Amino acid sequence: MIVFDLKCSGEHVFEVWFKSSSAYEEQRAQGLIACPYCGDSTVTKAVMAPAVAPKGNQLAEKKAPAKPEAFKAALAAIAQIQAKQLETSQWVGRAFAEKARSMHSGETPEAPIHGQATLEEAKALVEEGVPVAPLLVPVIPPEARN
Ligand SMILES: [Zn+2]
Repeated sequence: MIVFDLKCSGEHVFEVWFKSSSAYEEQRAQGLIACPYCGDSTVTKAVMAPAVAPKGNQLAEKKAPAKPEAFKAALAAIAQIQAKQLETSQWVGRAFAEKARSMHSGETPEAPIHGQATLEEAKALVEEGVPVAPLLVPVIPPEARN
């Protein structure tokens, strides 16, 4: 006995056992092999799936498609949480690094603030041990909202 993975013209793949390879050829030629799913008798040997994962572009194409709707909803939820947190926080704009540093050193009373900092400024603050965190969603400066 021999087993073949067969595929119909409707892309259904199914297994069929034959007495021999020639029995398969004979039965196929006579249209005796029918797809168990749709009854199609136009069958070919299915190409076996390779055991090794395909590389490069092939893999990228096979990735699950992104779900823009779900992503948008998640982003909106994050934006909402952040907006809530920022309600009690003061926008200091470009003075952020300076203010954060002066609060950290005790020169200014501590208060929640948010503002803009360059990557260099943010790195310097982290290195100095100033507790800063990047905003999850970009905030539009109040002066640019009109
Ligand atoms: Zn079929």
